[in-house]
Amino acid sequence: MMARPSFAIVGGGPSGSVAAAELASAGFAVTLFEPKGAWEKPCGGGVTTKALERYSWLLDDPSWPSQPIDRIALLSPGGRRLEMELDRPFRIFDRRRLNGLLLERARNAGADIAGEAVSAFERTNSGWKVSTRTRSIDAGILVGADGAGSVVRRDLAGRFRPDDVALTVGYNAPPAASRSLATVEIEFPPGLTGYVWAFPRTDHVNFGVINRLNERPAAELKALLHNFMGRYYDGPIPETAEFYGAKVPMLGHGAWRSVRATGDGWALIGDAAGFVDPITGEGIYFAIRSGELLAGSFVNGTGLAEYDRAWFEDFGEDLEVASKYLDRFYRGRFLGAPVIDRAVWFSARHAGFRRVMARALGGEQSYLTLKRDLVSNAFRF
Ligand SMILES: Cc1cc2nc3c(=O)[nH]c(=O)nc-3n(C[C@H](O)[C@H](O)[C@H](O)COP(=O)(O)OP(=O)(O)OC[C@H]3O[C@@H](n4cnc5c(N)ncnc54)[C@H](O)[C@@H]3O)c2cc1C
Repeated sequence: MMARPSFAIVGGGPSGSVAAAELASAGFAVTLFEPKGAWEKPCGGGVTTKALERYSWLLDDPSWPSQPIDRIALLSPGGRRLEMELDRPFRIFDRRRLNGLLLERARNAGADIAGEAVSAFERTNSGWKVSTRTRSIDAGILVGADGAGSVVRRDLAGRFRPDDVALTVGYNAPPAASRSLATVEIEFPPGLTGYVWAFPRTDHVNFGVINRLNERPAAELKALLHNFMGRYYDGPIPETAEFYGAKVPMLGHGAWRSVRATGDGWALIGDAAGFVDPITGEGIYFAIRSGELLAGSFVNGTGLAEYDRAWFEDFGEDLEVASKYLDRFYRGRFLGAPVIDRAVWFSARHAGFRRVMARALGGEQSYLTLKRDLVSNAFRF
């Protein structure tokens, strides 16, 4: 039986908070370092149907409200518009609330929440010495949950390659009088590996554009976004709109088999490991799931080797297939038109195809079976 190690978790976003909650509730000693507390991390905050189904506790406490979404409007590169009702709604959280909910859960489970950044870590005979500006603690296992710019990753597994990263720019801005808060809008500009979005929250709207790093200059992305927002508001962008810019992992096909998510006495979870759907940019589910899988591997006594096997089997292989489809989805052509135009065209005409699309947008469609499911559903009306 493995000795019960103590944990230093660097970062209290979804991955770190969930790992901390699961480990602490199983009796492990956990220190969770998070300097910003519950903050408005640059993010759409879309939590898919699949995530809500597995983690229904996300909706248990009404003091952490989120916006239900039951309609998606898609605009294809060729200008086709499709509106789809969702049978199974998903939610948009503002990140301050989502992180607040998850940190509270970790605290209630018994994790020690340290409101400081980790500034250094070094190996000791028994594990790690982890330091902030004011103190140091000893821990058996070091967990990097410090997001896309992870210093734990940089020092122990190396930085992401520029090709494996996407750039996002966006705004949090007031709602538009003419638009429903229950409708998400997504536009696919021609030739862009990425998309532009409007994700309504309970009291504001998160706008953004995601694009593979270095494919287009940031100024061009901003212009695409301003154009989209101008149409959303049917007029000028509100002066109170708050700008953000951030990176998110977008691992290419070749990168998945060489992901280093563990090493001697350390592990990476969430964005720090690169666990983001490269097509949609969805990372909250994979952050929560990887935190849970890491904790589970210690709770059942198998440890880091089991975590390394578990994440790939659970979702890694599926995301690897997603990255194989990435270029074909955004830049490929089918029957003489961009693939997305064709997908929107088919969805408008075939209920079966539309169902598969809706499942994909809700995070419920496996990429491993996508082709088969499209073919077998496409002509069911
Ligand atoms: C613009 C944008 C839109 C997105 N939209 C969506 C979406 O709609 N749905 C979705 O599922 N995903 C979305 N994502 C991805 C999602 O934001 C991430 O996948 C998710 O937040 C990852 O969680 P995490 O816990 O791994 O990392 P993070 O949420 O990034 O948390 C990392 C934490 O580590 C802390 N930290 C950093 N350095 C240190 C340090 N030295 N010491 C201590 N703490 C530290 C930070 O303060 C931060 O709180 C989006 C990403 C971006 C950039």
